[in-house]
Amino acid sequence: MSESNRVAIIGAGPAGLMAAEILTDKGIGVDIYDAMPSVGRKFLMAGKSGLNITHSEPTDIFLNRYGDNQRLIEMVSQFGSQDIIKWMADLGIEAHTGSTGRIFPVMMKSSPLLRAWLMRLGERGAVLHTKHRWQGWNDLGGLIFDTPEGIRTSSPTATIFAMGGGSWKRLGSDGKWADIFNKQSLETIPFEPSNSGFLINWSDKIKQDFAGAPVKSIRVGLGQDLISGEFVVTEKGVESGAIYTLSAKIREQIKAYGSAKLIIDLLPHMSEQDILNKLSRPRGKQSLSNYLRKTVKLSGVKLALLYEEIDKAVLQDMEKLAWRIKSLPLTITGTANLDEAISTTGGVDWEALDENLMLKDYPGNYCAGEMIDWDAPTGGYLITACLATGRIAGLGAAARILEQ
Ligand SMILES: Cc1cc2nc3c(=O)[nH]c(=O)nc-3n(C[C@H](O)[C@H](O)[C@H](O)COP(=O)(O)OP(=O)(O)OC[C@H]3O[C@@H](n4cnc5c(N)ncnc54)[C@H](O)[C@@H]3O)c2cc1C
Repeated sequence: MSESNRVAIIGAGPAGLMAAEILTDKGIGVDIYDAMPSVGRKFLMAGKSGLNITHSEPTDIFLNRYGDNQRLIEMVSQFGSQDIIKWMADLGIEAHTGSTGRIFPVMMKSSPLLRAWLMRLGERGAVLHTKHRWQGWNDLGGLIFDTPEGIRTSSPTATIFAMGGGSWKRLGSDGKWADIFNKQSLETIPFEPSNSGFLINWSDKIKQDFAGAPVKSIRVGLGQDLISGEFVVTEKGVESGAIYTLSAKIREQIKAYGSAKLIIDLLPHMSEQDILNKLSRPRGKQSLSNYLRKTVKLSGVKLALLYEEIDKAVLQDMEKLAWRIKSLPLTITGTANLDEAISTTGGVDWEALDENLMLKDYPGNYCAGEMIDWDAPTGGYLITACLATGRIAGLGAAARILEQ
């Protein structure tokens, strides 16, 4: 195939589809390629328990979620939460702001949004090629795809790579593109899990009785700085919520010391003294579990964690027990599998990209989405950054074509 003045977009996740949106809006023809038989699989998975697409918090706090990544911050400030709400509305999808400020499509799932999006792209002439796995470049610089009909090549005017990070490979983002880039002397940064679970050597009791249990209304952190939130106990350790927020810090501690010490305040609404006052009431013949349930309302998974992590002597000493209820240590022994992480860091180095996200050494080739090296917590910031970078890459490729 030879496509003059068409753009190839490789990877049909939110970043690639947003690039297609920008280009087709300017009347530029696009071919969207994806290795999988259907598109947006991770986007659909993200919507399984509610697609948290962006966040309503004030702009300065919102942008702070991207750390000191000024280039990404600039891109997100050009396409932030208000733009996303408007963009969804244009697709007929109303936004809903949850009690925590997170923004979702009102129907919560991704599928109605994805359907409307693909329909609009189709109406604007975008051509979707599924089961097309990009394999690299041929000697003439053309794109090579492995397809069910055999190898196909394409020579578009510009290419936007949006092949995702390195986790959840069953949804398509297997990170194998990094090997192809590296072979072309486009050195990438190794993928690392972000917003990932962590490992704890639980007893069989926790594994059997509490895997999947949410630990709600706690404060948790490393050292003194605790944050409010919740997390989920898994068979292998902990994940979700506050754990994802803390994941960069936990990873740092594991790297430095081989393990990390998580501190949990099981009863943040009570002071240590209040707890001690309640625990000083006569216990009579009650079991300790009954006594803790009645006096300070500790039960279920919270009680199990307390029993798991402190020794019997502490359980009999109410002063120490009150102290431990306010600062229960959990030892994290490692990071869960890369493939299980919600997102990954690593991939294309910002240094390799110009201000339009074009590969400096490969003019006409752009990158977008999670395949670029950035980090952000969950809360809608990931998809926001994918859409914002997809937009910039789309604008860059459009400008290149329109200049010709
Ligand atoms: C369980 C889960 C829940 C999540 N929940 C949220 C959430 O609520 N909010 C949020 O902001 N983020 C969430 N995320 C993260 C978010 O889904 C990702 O950050 C986002 O999908 C990344 O978008 P992307 O377009 O960069 O890449 P992807 O969505 O990963 O898309 C990449 C595409 O490229 C294709 N591809 C890869 N290699 C090739 C190749 N060689 N040739 C052709 N095609 C290829 C893949 O098949 C895939 O379709 C969640 C992630 C997971 C796993």
